[in-house]
Amino acid sequence: MTTYFNYPSPALQEELRTIAHNIVASGKGILAADESTATVGKRFADIGLENTEENRRAYRELLFTADSALNDNISGVILFHETLYQKASCGTSFAELLKQRGIYPGIKVDKGVVNLFGSEDECTTQGLDDLDARCAQYKKDGCQFAKWRCVLKIGKNTPSYQAILENANVLARYASICQTNGLVPIVEPEVLPDGDHDLDRAQKVTETVLAAVYKALSDHHVFLEGTLLKPNMVTAGQSCKTKYTPEEVAKATVTALQRTVPPAVAGVTFLSGGQSEEDASVHLNAINAYPGRKPWGLTFSYGRALQASVLRAWGGKPENVKAGQEELLKRAKANGLACQAKYVAGSIPSFAADKSLFVKAHAY
Ligand code: 13P
Repeated sequence: MTTYFNYPSPALQEELRTIAHNIVASGKGILAADESTATVGKRFADIGLENTEENRRAYRELLFTADSALNDNISGVILFHETLYQKASCGTSFAELLKQRGIYPGIKVDKGVVNLFGSEDECTTQGLDDLDARCAQYKKDGCQFAKWRCVLKIGKNTPSYQAILENANVLARYASICQTNGLVPIVEPEVLPDGDHDLDRAQKVTETVLAAVYKALSDHHVFLEGTLLKPNMVTAGQSCKTKYTPEEVAKATVTALQRTVPPAVAGVTFLSGGQSEEDASVHLNAINAYPGRKPWGLTFSYGRALQASVLRAWGGKPENVKAGQEELLKRAKANGLACQAKYVAGSIPSFAADKSLFVKAHAY
């Protein structure tokens, strides 16, 4: 095996490192607003709203024009392709609007999951073919980071070695292509919460998956200081009979990360994975309060757990825009506190705080 390779140039390293570190600055995290058109459709159906381009634009405008207090807790927003090229009513593009607020625009660059033939319903993620050209264009258009989601499933025989290796490798290829183009890659190997497995099984699967991901990133010469990891928290399966305390979830999650994620990685931005808004804040708080070595910023990159209350308060009605924005500010504040271990459970009630946001075999 040859060991000759290059990391990015010193200037590019510095650029990537700075973006990644600013995203996980104390008290800050990411708003994942990159739902595909089909996924937004499901969210809108819940509130009886038609899935038109204008409704999607109006909804994203609500999110991105919330009060300036949002800037205190949100450092980056992940956009979907369509949203990147849409404008607020004032005529300013969303990317420019976010930039003016000091929030990094990011972009989802994967093209969704596809089956791994012959497997037990496992999948990989597609989108590599034209990724280099798309990343170059996205950087020109103002994006500073990217996201690519891979999905692993826990079953009797899964995740298989085939799925673990394939997904680790595609994440590494994606990450190296992003870095070449000046985008910080968010590496997201999501182990789904579907199933009745216990906390111990979830932890072992997460450890195995993350170990494979970091081996692949090393093989592909990815500059870890300019990357972010977006993992699942280690929680028991959604239908597991045993209930675990936030402290047990925190111990399993931090231990899995300690065993597999190099300290060079800039930060960890958890997905919410179907947890209720309140659980996602309480667990993030417990993770940060957990005593033990945590050499990375541990923060949030939530989709559902930042938006469920917003959608319900808004309901698609122009007169409720402010009410929707208030809900976003509340969850952003709660999670901003949680990533500093300062969130008191139940102290920031919101519209949908305790509602489970679990979606079977969640697609994005
Ligand atoms: P959830 O927080 O809704 O799990 O989604 C975050 C995300 O970006 C998944 O790719």
